[in-house]
Amino acid sequence: MKVVRNVGLEMKNSFLSIVGVENVKYSQAHMLAYSYDATANFQAMPDLVLSPRSTQEIVEIVKICAKEQIPIVPRGSGTNLAAGTVPTQGGIVLLFNNMSEILELDKENLTVTVQPGVITQDLSNYVESNGLFYPPDPSSMKISTIGGNVSENSGGLRGLKYGVTKDYVKALTVVTPAGEVMKLGGKLAKDVAGYDLLSLLVGSEGTLGVITEITLKLIPLPIAKKTGIAYFNSLEDAAETVSAIIANRIIPVTLEFMDKGTIGAVEDFMKIGLPREAEAMLLMEQDGNDKQVDEDIQKMIAIAKENGATSAILAASEEESDILKTGRRAALSALSRKRPTTILEDATVPRSEIAKMVKAIQEIALKHDLQISTFGHAGDGNLHPTCLTDVRDQEEMARVEKALEEIFQVAIELGGTITGEHGVGEMKAPYLEWKLGTVGMNLMRTIKQSIDPQNIMNPGKIFAKETKKRLVIHGGN
Ligand SMILES: Cc1cc2nc3c(=O)[nH]c(=O)nc-3n(C[C@H](O)[C@H](O)[C@H](O)COP(=O)(O)OP(=O)(O)OC[C@H]3O[C@@H](n4cnc5c(N)ncnc54)[C@H](O)[C@@H]3O)c2cc1C
Repeated sequence: MKVVRNVGLEMKNSFLSIVGVENVKYSQAHMLAYSYDATANFQAMPDLVLSPRSTQEIVEIVKICAKEQIPIVPRGSGTNLAAGTVPTQGGIVLLFNNMSEILELDKENLTVTVQPGVITQDLSNYVESNGLFYPPDPSSMKISTIGGNVSENSGGLRGLKYGVTKDYVKALTVVTPAGEVMKLGGKLAKDVAGYDLLSLLVGSEGTLGVITEITLKLIPLPIAKKTGIAYFNSLEDAAETVSAIIANRIIPVTLEFMDKGTIGAVEDFMKIGLPREAEAMLLMEQDGNDKQVDEDIQKMIAIAKENGATSAILAASEEESDILKTGRRAALSALSRKRPTTILEDATVPRSEIAKMVKAIQEIALKHDLQISTFGHAGDGNLHPTCLTDVRDQEEMARVEKALEEIFQVAIELGGTITGEHGVGEMKAPYLEWKLGTVGMNLMRTIKQSIDPQNIMNPGKIFAKETKKRLVIHGGN
């Protein structure tokens, strides 16, 4: 999997003739702007940034790149947290700012067809104004693109009840690494013709082709929703509440968790009256019809009290509920204000193991003398331990790396994974084998090589040069 990095003047002119002069960027300032994404401590300059206007233009670009072995890094809004859009082997960064149209709303088949550059929040607002609902709601939805969401298989606050992006992707148009157009799926309810290539492309992080059109499933917009909030003096009580809610056969739309450090950071940032003394907070939301919503939210509040909540109440109004959800969505931004570098992880475990995982994270932070706050989608077992550090302090960074490795290891030992929704990118590539094993990695490599034999699509992502050695700290294998 070798790529040759080379975008000479003649080639620049070829790209310019495809996309037009206004859609090619190559100044130092532009290269710098596209040399990093939302991931701390990763940076590399691209050679050229292109903003194509159509699938056909992408076909022409990819054909040149295939012939000349130029790396292509598709980039939505660059909000991924795994260095997935850092052009670590140079080449072309492909933007979708000229491909951000909502193309069709099909009310009979309940689908919407969009270009990849549509902003997630804009899509959500558009379908809701038509009485329909697109549930996946990553906290970054005000900036992230649908193309990025599909390529990362992103989750969100509503994942527990409604699933993640893959559960809504019905069809894709993809430009393959050879520059051919492939149409996958359709507006069908059922389709078992051949291997499930649609699912292979979802979550492929720009390594198997360029996604140029997306058809998504929609569902009717729920009539009612209500939010409850519970505070706890112990993390274990909050974790027990999560398990007890599910054991009581309630599937809330949202069951979000913040620890004391995160509560304090959000309060500093937003001043919304969160109690800084609480050790943990759960945000619980249900949607559906009025009767069911009322019943479920009251039951969840009662369960929280039975499990030791110091306070468990219903949000007084929709406005208060929106403020609380905005507070939760702002957790990462709020924590980022505390120290120069924020490294957010994505360890995910079966929901029954949440208490053990949260406790292990705290022990690991203590052991390595680090500031790690945790928040996340508790109902999904998807936690975001967030390390507040400073990349300029090499000694501290070495401790951070050790701590994160230990967190991944514990997650795997508890039956979990190294990433629940953020993807592997370049950052977590050295750990992927811990999850997949050698056989799994070899199969993935075979798939990549057969689709992209020259490794021009987002090289260096998902597949690491070297796998990190497993640590033996908790008696795992
Ligand atoms: C504050 C904050 C909160 C976040 N909250 C969440 C959350 O709740 N849930 C969650 O899952 N994630 C979350 N994320 C991570 C991130 O926002 C998601 O992964 C999101 O889907 C990335 O979208 P993007 O448009 O920024 O894509 P980018 O970061 O630009 O790209 C992501 C990946 O997709 C590939 N790609 C992009 N477009 C295409 C295309 N058209 N064809 C092929 N490949 C493509 C890129 O090469 C890259 O590998 C959060 C990030 C931040 C900064």
